[in-house]
Amino acid sequence: MSKPLVIGCGGVASVAIQKCCQNAGTFPELCIASRTVSKCDALKAKLEEAGTPVKITTATVNADDVEDIKRVITAYGPDLVLNVALPYQDLAIMDACLACGVHYVDTANYEPEDTDDPAWRAIYEKRCREEGFTAFFDYSWQWAYAQKFEQAGLTALLGSGFDPGVTSVFSAYALKHYFDEIHTIDILDCNGGDHGYPFATNFNPEINLREVSANGSYWQDGHWVETKPMEIKREYDFPQVGKKDMYLLHHEEIESLAKNIPGVRRIRFFMTFGQSYLTHMKCLENVGMLSTSPIEFEGKQIVPIQFLKALLPDPASLGPRTVGKTNIGCIFSGVKDGKPRTIYIYNVCDHQACYRELGSQAISYTTGVPAMIGAALVANGAWRKPGVFNLEQMDPDPFMEMLNQYGLPWVVQEDPATVE
Ligand code: NDP
Repeated sequence: MSKPLVIGCGGVASVAIQKCCQNAGTFPELCIASRTVSKCDALKAKLEEAGTPVKITTATVNADDVEDIKRVITAYGPDLVLNVALPYQDLAIMDACLACGVHYVDTANYEPEDTDDPAWRAIYEKRCREEGFTAFFDYSWQWAYAQKFEQAGLTALLGSGFDPGVTSVFSAYALKHYFDEIHTIDILDCNGGDHGYPFATNFNPEINLREVSANGSYWQDGHWVETKPMEIKREYDFPQVGKKDMYLLHHEEIESLAKNIPGVRRIRFFMTFGQSYLTHMKCLENVGMLSTSPIEFEGKQIVPIQFLKALLPDPASLGPRTVGKTNIGCIFSGVKDGKPRTIYIYNVCDHQACYRELGSQAISYTTGVPAMIGAALVANGAWRKPGVFNLEQMDPDPFMEMLNQYGLPWVVQEDPATVE
């Protein structure tokens, strides 16, 4: 039995917390701590009204401040922290977990809020030269905690969302049950949903727009190949969604899968976007609205992308208006018993079904469910070992079982259409 502290109370957190309440055997109590405590109180009230058996408390925390996180951890006494705030807070929360002796789980790898910070820039530029990809986020910061977590006898589980997260577990499952060696992995993230707004993002706009406006890259024969943003476009006919255009992006699980899947030769990540989304994004970028550098406006410093976030619909509010389905999964090719083999493992998730169940859209749902599962497996000991781990380093079977149990059933298709 576990007593987690959940940090953050946005779209993903709301699903993860509601799923913890569906798993009260593992989580008989929990604390929700975030910057805006009224959001935590509102979710607690909703769950209590629905009759949850889980004892819920709430707290205010500034997760940029290690001391403040330590204060909340010490006051509540959790066995693990589930970080569903923003990637900017990952390192502060890991530091606080180490100081207080609690396990750590998150859904997205560290990136700095201020990418103009000269100390961070120097390390970033060195990494770009040495590794060959220019995304602002990478695992080096969090992997550097491995020895500290090992010595403390604590587990840090990185990236327990859908992608990364479920896609990492699909990779471990494919390797364990379907292949002797995997040669290529294509991760396909398709959102066939329509929210009816001219422009909105499905999760935190700042994080989302930074990710999709950056250069793409993929792993090939032991090194990174970088592309211009949206340079590589393909079309794929997704089961239960239909034909969609998709674009190659850099994505964090490529970095860890390249290390952890022995013999893999190529890993690519594609995400679907409609033309209208891309046109809006290009326009916002051209006028400087995606910039993370503060500017002076009427005597105040404002960060353009943060101002844009304030204008855009809150992703947590898209639930009632979004119709359609997501299809996220991986196409693997390789060899089994000396013969070539290709399989596609995917999940299809219906936006309206998610909304009916938890009041959220499918992007938050597909991230929040695996966040709860990762936390549960660390909590119950199945995935507890000292150090810092990505999900493909763990036994995939209990996670795959829980995906079926908690609303994200998956399909294995032999000989699917492949991506050129
Ligand atoms: P939201 O913006 O909806 O929620 C973020 C929450 O964190 C908010 O409650 C916010 O508080 C809180 N927060 C932000 N800064 C602080 C701080 N300094 N101290 C305390 N609380 C803070 O984001 P999402 O729910 O959409 O995303 C959550 C995470 O999930 C992100 O890291 C995102 O990258 C990740 N993600 C991962 C995916 C995957 O598949 N692996 C897919 C989608 C998202 P406030 O309410 O005051 O703003």
